[in-house]
Amino acid sequence: MKKIVFATNNQHKLEEVRAMIGAHFEVLSLRDINCNEEIPENGLTFEENAISKARYIKDNYGYDCFADDSGLEVTALNNAPGVFSARYAGEPSNSQRNIEKLMHEMQGKEERSARFRTCIAYLAGDDELYFEGCVEGYIIDTLRGFNGFGYDPLFVPCGYDITFAEMSSEEKNRISHRAIAIQKLIEYLLGK
Ligand code: IMP
Repeated sequence: MKKIVFATNNQHKLEEVRAMIGAHFEVLSLRDINCNEEIPENGLTFEENAISKARYIKDNYGYDCFADDSGLEVTALNNAPGVFSARYAGEPSNSQRNIEKLMHEMQGKEERSARFRTCIAYLAGDDELYFEGCVEGYIIDTLRGFNGFGYDPLFVPCGYDITFAEMSSEEKNRISHRAIAIQKLIEYLLGK
């Protein structure tokens, strides 16, 4: 079976992708290829971060590869935290402090629109392709729900009246930015 590396060690993401293309591709994680070093993520866009991770694996390990980068863009904050979503309140990355900072920055703001974005970069042979996923929504001012991770308790997707953190993981995985981008990649891979 054809091997492809997904440049992540996030078990949740791996399982999601394996469930979708495991019958056609052997999806290897960073751990599976013995890549234990920290891959630098210094880009100023999701695209730059995703392609730099994918290129690092292709150059150093020789595998066909894809990598993802995601984050939250808030209109009233000039699209912050964006690529800095994981470390919005500084390093080391801390979800609780990130959420508190976002609530603080959004205090009193009327414009509440926001979106989660994912970019997947795919490198194989001569292919260098990007697949994007985006979910529009808005930021509420009190935490709601306990599922998910990151900014989920503050984000209500358009067309819903519950936050990502109030959804079951199945429901979130059906509509999320990541699911949209992964679905596009998978359609491309299966159509080849
Ligand atoms: P990653 O690139 O997917 O690891 O995401 C970077 C950061 O963006 C995470 O640490 C979270 O703070 C935020 N983020 C990305 N996707 C989500 C999501 O689905 N829910 C909540 N926060 C997210």
